[in-house]
Amino acid sequence: MSTPDSSSRRQLLKRIALAASAAALASTSLRAADQPLISVDEPEAKAVKYVEDGSKVKEAMGNRCDTCSLYQGKDGSKQGGCQLFKGKGVTAAGWCTAWAPQM
Ligand code: SF4
Repeated sequence: MSTPDSSSRRQLLKRIALAASAAALASTSLRAADQPLISVDEPEAKAVKYVEDGSKVKEAMGNRCDTCSLYQGKDGSKQGGCQLFKGKGVTAAGWCTAWAPQM
């Protein structure tokens, strides 16, 4: 059985955890927007056949970075981070062979 003190302590801890998560998420989004775009000529981009415009690649079948579960850009953004490329961004319209659907 919980006492009023333990209940309010739990609530406080939940709020602190939520605030920390929100701050981390906001920080990640800001960093992703500031990242330079990866070049299609870089080895890690070539390894997954990354292109800046997936609409020009039949293999993409209409999929794009902004519909990929590894994309870190905000909704409606023109570019954002990708979990594959640390410190580099990708275009929202881009695509690569590692594309995975969002859940
Ligand atoms: Fe784009 Fe997803 Fe490939 Fe990253 S993993 S480059 S977000 S398609």
